[in-house]
Order: sequence, then structure tokens, then C-alpha cells
Amino acid sequence: MPETRVLLRDHLDADLTRLADYVALGGFKAWKVAHELGKDGVVDEVKAVNLRGRGGAGFPAGVKWSFLPKDGRTRYLVINADEGEPGTFKDRYFLEVDPFRLLEGCLLTSWALGINACYIYIRGEFHDGIATTEDAIAQMHKAGWLGKDIQGSGFDLEIYTHPGAGAYICGEETALIESLEGKPGQPRLKPPFPANVGLFGMPTVVNNVETIACVPVILEMGKDAFNALGTPGNAEKGVKPQGGTKLVGISGHVKKPGVYEVKLGETLRHIIFDLGGGVLDDREFLACIPGGSSTPLLMPEYLDLPFDFDSLREAGTMLGTAGIIVMHDGTDLLEVMSRLSHFYKHESCGQCTPCRQGTGWLFQIIEKMRTGEGTVDQIDVLYNAAQQIEGNTICALGDAAAWPIKSFIERFRPQLEATIVARAATRAAAGA
Ligand code: SF4
Repeated sequence: MPETRVLLRDHLDADLTRLADYVALGGFKAWKVAHELGKDGVVDEVKAVNLRGRGGAGFPAGVKWSFLPKDGRTRYLVINADEGEPGTFKDRYFLEVDPFRLLEGCLLTSWALGINACYIYIRGEFHDGIATTEDAIAQMHKAGWLGKDIQGSGFDLEIYTHPGAGAYICGEETALIESLEGKPGQPRLKPPFPANVGLFGMPTVVNNVETIACVPVILEMGKDAFNALGTPGNAEKGVKPQGGTKLVGISGHVKKPGVYEVKLGETLRHIIFDLGGGVLDDREFLACIPGGSSTPLLMPEYLDLPFDFDSLREAGTMLGTAGIIVMHDGTDLLEVMSRLSHFYKHESCGQCTPCRQGTGWLFQIIEKMRTGEGTVDQIDVLYNAAQQIEGNTICALGDAAAWPIKSFIERFRPQLEATIVARAATRAAAGA
């Protein structure tokens, strides 16, 4: 087994959806380690590896946990399994193939933070993932890993699944909380942040599936071994390590699309050409969207960039969900822009004007360009509209709609101009 595969274990000769197989492979060993470390010790361990959130924002999980007020109020753990960003499909692995990794992470995190109720908010279309996760929860109950007095420890925990109803915006943590409470999934204004006023008005931690699935791995391996898998920090320069591995989903114009596990800091070249098998039909690599559809493009000169949170941010983009969408030199750029802008227009919750109106304008302008009705000077109008959305909305969906469009214009303006002129000429000729 390559040493990087500490999360992806679908190659093992075991059915990881069966508790007996999971335990036989060392499952729940971290429970003992956690008790040796103590509750604060578990939080310190997660802080020491600088476990950056795997859901998009990359905020350190241990730091997020430490924001919970120590005021005796009931606390909740909420798992964001509403994986809906185009190009992103890595969390499904845990829900469908290795659910106990996630559930063990929920148990350890809840124990460390003094939480007795955990909700897993799962994208409603994940029928297999919901069924598998619910079955795994039932197995844990039967074996005394959930419910009252877990393994004689005096600790109680219930884990509930909650299928979403298909809105992408419910992947935003406050919209997710609203939806869990039975209300329309619309993001809340922050502050207050969920750590203070979250689910049912109580202190709440919202973490991504992969983030929490890393917790048992960190305790099993120990912080040094986990950190050694990632990008080493530099204490002198105040740069923290980025511990562990990352699941990446590769799609688009590659020969072997799929979910792979890489050390944080691997190059994009390795991920796309070695793991993903290279560009489809052996065409030229044009660009890729590195972290789900909301992230700005990376061009060929960045193929040797370390794939980690900080390196991608310095390159003007984000690691995001690590959903890498590869495009070759035959890609119809306006077609891609049209699909992306249609998605965000459709998924806007409508609360704020720049997003509600602006996402529609982006789509309309791009559609005109795509169908031959557009003009070159509309590129500036489009860029300006995207800029007016960015940073002026309640949640990050506005930014997510604006960034890729700006990025396409900044990197491919000459190509876009040529395509707009050619399409307009074709349309005029057809009309004549
Ligand atoms: Fe809703 Fe868009 Fe505003 Fe987010 S940015 S709250 S999705 S309207």
C-alpha cells in the first residue's frame, strides 16, 4: 500500500461498511488513544497538525473548536455532507464506502468537545450514502459505540442523519443550520458565528466530512507521522505545517477521472498526469479549475506548484474542495462559462441583490456571447458586473459566481474576443 493512502482504503480486501471488518482493520483504536490524551489533549493534537478544513475554506479545525464558549450551554456537532459544488465528489467516498471513519471521527470529536448530539447533513441525492451511513449508525448502536454510556465510559452520543432537499447553498454552514432547523436554507448574517449561536441557538461546530474523518487517523498515527505526510512548516518564518493527506477529485479532460489521495504539497503535474493519466486524447493542457467550480483558473505555468492551501492562495486561487476540473486546448470556453454562471444563477438563494440580480446578468451576457449575439465590448460589462458582486454579498456564493468568470476573462481575453467575433459572424451569415 503506498504510504499516502491513509484515508482511501477501498483497495483493501474488506467490506468497510461492516463494523466487524472496520474493527478488524484497527477501527476504534483511537478511542483508547483519546482517553490517554484526555479531552484537551485531543484538541491539542488536532491543533498541532494544523488540520485545515477540507470543505473549502481551509480554516484550522482545532482553532474552530476552541471558539466554543465554555458557558455550560448544550453544544452540537454538525457534519457538512452536502457536497454539491460542481467538480467535487470526494466526500461520497466516506458516506458510501468507509462510513465508520466518519462516524468514529464524530464520536472522538464529540467526546473531546463535550457534545452529546451530532447531525450529519447529507446531500439528498446521495441515496446510497444516506442508506450506508444510517446502517453504520445502527451497527454502532448495537455494538455499544453510540447511545448511552458508550463502552462504559459514561459518555452519551446520538448521531442523526438529515438529507438535504437539493439546494447547493445549504453547503454554507449557516444556511445548513437554517435548513436543519426546518427553515428555508438561506445564509445568516455573521456575526454571531455558529460557535456562539448555531443550531437551535446553541454553540455549534460545523465541519466537513473529510475533516472529521481525519481525526481518528491523526490519533492512530500520532501528530508527527500525520504531519510528515503534508507540507512541513517553517517555525522561523512563522509558517505552520499543513499536515496530512488530501482527497482530490479529478474530472474533465483527463484519462482517469476519480478520487485520489495525495500528500498535501504534491504537484498538480503529478496529480493530473500520473494519477489522472494525463490529458484526454493526448491534447495540450489548457488550464484547470483547482478546487471546485468557484475557484480561479490555474494555467500550465503552475503545473509544478505544490498542491496545498498556502501555495494555491499565493498563486491567486484556492485549494477549496480539491475538485480539479481539467480543460484541454479544444475546450469551448464560453460553453464552460455559460454552464458555471447558469449554476450559480440557479442556486442563488435570492436574499441579496448583487447575487440575486448579478448572477442572472452574468449568465445572460455570457449566453449572448455563446450564441453569437454578443459583442467584444460586452466583455468589460461582464467583468464589471462580476466585480460588483464580489465582496458585496451575505455569503460566499456571490464570490463563487464572480471569481471564475473574472478569471476566464483575465486569462483568456484574446481567445474570448476571437470566439465572440467568429460566433457573431457565423450567426450573421446564417441569418443572411
Ligand atoms: Fe443568498 Fe447569494 Fe446572498 Fe448568499 S450571496 S445569501 S446565496 S443571495
